[in-house]
Amino acid sequence: MVKQLVTAQNDFFATHKSKDVAFRKKYLKKLLQEIEDQEDAVCDALYADFKKPKFESLATETQLTLAELKHAIKNIKEWSEPNSVGPSLLNFPSKEWIQPEPYGKVLIISPWNYPFLLTMSPLIGALSAGNTAILKPSEFSPNTSKIIGRIVRKVFPPEYVTVVEGGVEASTELLAEKWEYIFFTGSTRVGKIVYQKAAEHLTPVTLELSGKNPCIVDETASIKLASKRIAWGKFINAGQTCIAPDYILVHKSVKNDLVAGLKSHIEQFYGNTIENSEDFARITTSKHYEELKAMLQGQKILFGGNFNDKDRFVEPTLVDEPPLESTVMEGEVFGPILPIISYDDESELDNYISRYPNSLAFYVFSTNKKFQKRMMLQYSFGGGTINDTVVHISNKSLPFGGVGQSGIGGYHGKHSFDLFSHHKSIVKRANWLDIPLRYAPYTISLGLMKKIKHFF
Ligand code: NAD
Repeated sequence: MVKQLVTAQNDFFATHKSKDVAFRKKYLKKLLQEIEDQEDAVCDALYADFKKPKFESLATETQLTLAELKHAIKNIKEWSEPNSVGPSLLNFPSKEWIQPEPYGKVLIISPWNYPFLLTMSPLIGALSAGNTAILKPSEFSPNTSKIIGRIVRKVFPPEYVTVVEGGVEASTELLAEKWEYIFFTGSTRVGKIVYQKAAEHLTPVTLELSGKNPCIVDETASIKLASKRIAWGKFINAGQTCIAPDYILVHKSVKNDLVAGLKSHIEQFYGNTIENSEDFARITTSKHYEELKAMLQGQKILFGGNFNDKDRFVEPTLVDEPPLESTVMEGEVFGPILPIISYDDESELDNYISRYPNSLAFYVFSTNKKFQKRMMLQYSFGGGTINDTVVHISNKSLPFGGVGQSGIGGYHGKHSFDLFSHHKSIVKRANWLDIPLRYAPYTISLGLMKKIKHFF
C-alpha cells in the first residue's frame, strides 16, 4: 500500500500541478476552511488522547495552525517569485536570480505531544512550497491521528496529500522508500534512525529533536514574573513540551523566593486539588508516565510529587537539588517535574549547562543586560527567550528548530517555505556582447589578471 501511495505521488508531482501557485492556494484555503469547521472535533480528540484542556488545544494547536495557514495563503505568491540578485560583473551583461522550486514528495513524521500542530505546521510549509506530502502522525495520540486523517481525506486527493496511520512498523515501511525531503519531529534517538535512512538516498532532512533546556534565574531577576512565567511554560501541556524549561539554575540568594513564587503560581493556575483541575492535562503514554514516576525515587520534593495511575496524572512537582547522576538530571524531563539547582557564582553555571550541549531552548531571567548577553552568546542552542519561557515559538519571523543534538533546520512562516524549497541559482546571459578574455589561448598578461581581481 505504501508503494502505491508513493508511486501515485511521484506521478502526480510529475504533472507539475502542485507547482502552480493558484493550485497551492486553493488547497491551503480548503484546508483552512476544514480545520475551522472541525476545530471543536480536533479539541475533543486532544481531550480524548490526554485530557488536553480546550483552551490549550485552541491556543497551542488549532489557532497556531490556522495562523500559519493564513500567513502562507497571504504570502505564497510573493514567496514563490524569483528573487533577483545583483548581477556579477564577470557575467556582464546578464540577469541573475534565485528561483525556489519544490523538492517533490515529502514525508512528515510527527510526535504525540502537540500532535495536531506538529503534523499540520510542516504540512503547510511543504504545500506552500509546491510539494506533495505523506503524513505519519503518532500512534500514541490515536484520536488526533484519526481526525487528521479525516480532515486530509476530505480536503486532498491522496496523490497530493495522504495520511498513513500506525507506529514504528508504518514509519519503517515509509522510511524504506525514496523521498525528496523528510521532516521528522520527535526524539533524538529516532531522529538518528531517520537520518540514516535518509542518507541512503541523499534525501535532505529537517530533524526537530529534543534537549535538556536550562532556565537560569540570577539574583537581579524579577522573581515575581520569573516564577509565574516559568510555571506557565513548564506546566502547560503537563510539561510535555519540547521547549519547556527542563531544569532551573537559580542564584542561592533568590532561591527561596523563587520556590515560594512557583508554588503560589501553581496553586493559582490549577487550584489546591490539581487533579480536579480542568486546566491540567495528563501524560499521554504509559511509558512516559512510568519514567516520570521513576524519576522521583529518592528525590527531595519541594512541592507536589503525587500520581494517579488511573489516568496517568502527574502533579506539578518541584525537586530540590537533585544529584547530577540521578535520572531526573540524565536526559530530558518530558512531564511536569522541575528540578531546581542553586548556584553561588556565575562560574558554576558552565558545569551544568555544558553537560547537556545544544539544548533546544534556553532561558535566562535577569535584569543584568551584560549577563543576558553573555549567556545568549556563550552557548549554542536552538532558540531562547530572555525573561520568559516558550514564547520565542510564537513569532513566525523567527525560525524554530534545534542545533547539533537538538536538531537540523528551522521552520515557521517564510522559513518553512524556504526549508521545503530548493533555491535554484540562475544566470541569463545576453548575446550582444561576449568579452573574449576568458577563452584560451590566454592572451591577457598575468600581471593584468592579478589587477582585475576585484571583479571576482
Ligand atoms: P518518538 O521519537 O518516539 O516518535 C516520533 C515519531 O517517530 C512517531 O510518529 C513514531 O511513530 C515514530 N517512530 C518511533 N520509533 C521509530 C522508529 N524506530 N523508526 C521510525 N519511526 C519511529 O518521539 P515521541 O515520543 O512521539 O515525542 C516526544 C519527543 O519528541 C521528545 O523527545 C520531544 O522533545 C520531541 N519533540 C521535539 C519537538 C521539536 O520541535 N523539536 C517537538 C515536539 C516533540
